[in-house]
Amino acid sequence: MKNIKIAIDGPASSGKSTVAKVVAKDLEIIYLDTGAMYRAATLVSIEIETLDFRKIIEFLQENSIAFAQTQVFLGTRDVTQIIRGNDVTAKVSEISAIPEIRDFMVREQRRIAKGHSIIMDGRDIGTVVLPDADLKIFLIADAAERAARRYKENLERGIPSDLSALKEEIIERDRYDSSRKVSPLKAADDAIVFDTTGKTIPEVVDFIEGKARSLM
Ligand code: C5P
Repeated sequence: MKNIKIAIDGPASSGKSTVAKVVAKDLEIIYLDTGAMYRAATLVSIEIETLDFRKIIEFLQENSIAFAQTQVFLGTRDVTQIIRGNDVTAKVSEISAIPEIRDFMVREQRRIAKGHSIIMDGRDIGTVVLPDADLKIFLIADAAERAARRYKENLERGIPSDLSALKEEIIERDRYDSSRKVSPLKAADDAIVFDTTGKTIPEVVDFIEGKARSLM
């Protein structure tokens, strides 16, 4: 079987990570959640109280971001829950718009992708991180439905939330991510744009796996 690289991009809560995790498991390939990496960098910025990219990167070099099944680590510390919290979410777009932080992350992401089959989800995977990906999917969904999904997820994780505030936060984060100068959120020219509004997870998974299997 040939190595395959799959890029899943799209706005906040469009279902990227949920779907990518299932596809990774079914196809027995690596999954990389690049949003978690930007969230970890944001946590560092908050905790060491700096916007200075040098200090954030230095910290990340000493305390690498690592993944183990469903957990995310910063050095040896499990940050899985805290990086999904409201404080990090409110600041992540600002931190991920810093060009030097992006350069650092993109290098790490390409290093992780090298020599394996992988499915990566994020905002710039098809455009910047893996421009030669075999399959590029850009997932979109109605903002109200995305807010409802995030609301449900938050409840399950025990994160307090307000549905209308969530919808505003999602729209604002997409606006920020789409309008930044460096690697904005956008579909690659050769991406398949797939609207997940009203679709179930298995429907989206089947579509992606069908495409992927024909390439493997
Ligand atoms: O995917 P998730 O919602 O966890 O991503 C959090 C934030 O990280 C996004 O809103 C975006 O600002 C940033 N991000 C990015 N590029 C990626 C993945 C995430 O800029 N490849």
